[in-house]
Amino acid sequence: MKLKSLVLDGFKSFAQKTQIEFRPGLTAIVGPNGSGKSNLVEAIRWVLGEQSAKSLRGSRMPDVIFAGSNDQAALNRAEVEITFDNSDHFLAVDTDEVAITRRLFRDGTSEFLLNQKFVRLKDITDLLMDTGLGKDSFSLISQGKVEQVFNSKPEERRQFIEEAAGILKYKKERLDAQSK
Ligand code: ATP
Ligand code: MG
Repeated sequence: MKLKSLVLDGFKSFAQKTQIEFRPGLTAIVGPNGSGKSNLVEAIRWVLGEQSAKSLRGSRMPDVIFAGSNDQAALNRAEVEITFDNSDHFLAVDTDEVAITRRLFRDGTSEFLLNQKFVRLKDITDLLMDTGLGKDSFSLISQGKVEQVFNSKPEERRQFIEEAAGILKYKKERLDAQSK
């Protein structure tokens, strides 16, 4: 399973639809301060289900929608689509490519799609849980995360290990069953 492409449309500073193809090997995103490098990483976290506006450097979720610039008016919608090569069927979806899309409108309406079909956020989180791809997983290591692991309490450190070991899914299923 590999990251194939990312499309940003109206997300933060990406007012124009922007598509990035990830080729085999290492990809480095470089650019001057304020050019959108962090916004791009946040778009990945957002499309994978991030629910905290703060961790995307905003105060409310609609802050991710392009807010306008000197030469362009604000937009009413942010959309991000991430596509994975799933030819090894690592993700539990029966297709060789898996596309996850998230949209947010200024009125707060939110949409998630899996392979262009509407799904719930829960379907996305369930799909990604224990794959190492979820928004809190180690596929995205943000600034300060390494210190956070070192400085965490034993219970929190245990959670990191449980995520890495892939047992979170079973714990969550047990909790869901107990609450029924
Ligand atoms: P650095 O090298 O300093 O880390 P960077 O390339 O990571 O910079 P970002 O933090 O991704 O840059 O981009 C910041 C820019 O994105 C700022 O100019 C900010 O105004 C712009 N920006 C953030 N949110 C929005 C939004 N909703 N609408 C328009 N522009 C936005
Ligand atoms: Mg940055």
